[in-house]
Amino acid sequence: IIDMQGIYKRFYIGQPNELEILKGIDLQVGRGEFVSIVGASGSGKSTLMNIIGALDRPTEGSYTLDGVPMRDVPDNMLSEIRNCKIGFVFQTFNLIPRTSALRNVELPMLYSGMGASARSRRAKELLDIVGMADRMKHQPSELSGGQKQRVAIARAMANDPAIILADEPTGALDTQTGHMVMDLFHRLHREEGKTIVLITHNPELAAETERIVTISDGRIIRAEKGGMPRAAV
Ligand code: ATP
Ligand code: MG
Repeated sequence: IIDMQGIYKRFYIGQPNELEILKGIDLQVGRGEFVSIVGASGSGKSTLMNIIGALDRPTEGSYTLDGVPMRDVPDNMLSEIRNCKIGFVFQTFNLIPRTSALRNVELPMLYSGMGASARSRRAKELLDIVGMADRMKHQPSELSGGQKQRVAIARAMANDPAIILADEPTGALDTQTGHMVMDLFHRLHREEGKTIVLITHNPELAAETERIVTISDGRIIRAEKGGMPRAAV
């Protein structure tokens, strides 16, 4: 579902300087796979994630997302591709403040033109899946970190995207809450067949995923099989 060949990303930081952040990434992720990306801070993980998620384009190389060659997609179509194919989950949740959990989950469906009652029904169903049905009227400031992340995951699922991209989703959570969020991803993978790409600094969480891809200084230096069950605590 993700096919990247020879991806380079360079940032111009004023003539004649140029930073090469991604240096020839080849990455394939199959439909329904659960893959993690690990690597030191500054190695290029989020830069790569932004390209996978059609938030940014590569400087060089080809990227095909769910059969669509991204090079052929005009800029004004990128947000549509994002909205229907990708669900994003971030370290800092990125929920809309002073807006209920329900409304937060409804928003992506509003953008894709779904009617009000279908939207509300689907949002409630999703909040139920993530165990937040009893908090749907709460605003983000009235929720704990783990609860916020569960709402964010429900929102990421709103348009039933094929791919969930999560950039350090457990980074702001304690260990136990992080495990709960990971269990939720495992469930969405197993039961809903989602393709999940997870960026994490936590090697134990990465080891739980099916494949661990290590990035160092803009290159993939290792890819190993995961599937390690979590050690009991
Ligand atoms: P972390 O684990 O800390 O989140 P990361 O692997 O996600 O790190 P990136 O955010 O991809 O790292 O950044 C990689 C490098 O690219 C950094 O050195 C960063 O300064 C640089 N970079 C990212 N975006 C830009 C930009 N828009 N302009 C210039 N440099 C950038
Ligand atoms: Mg990052």
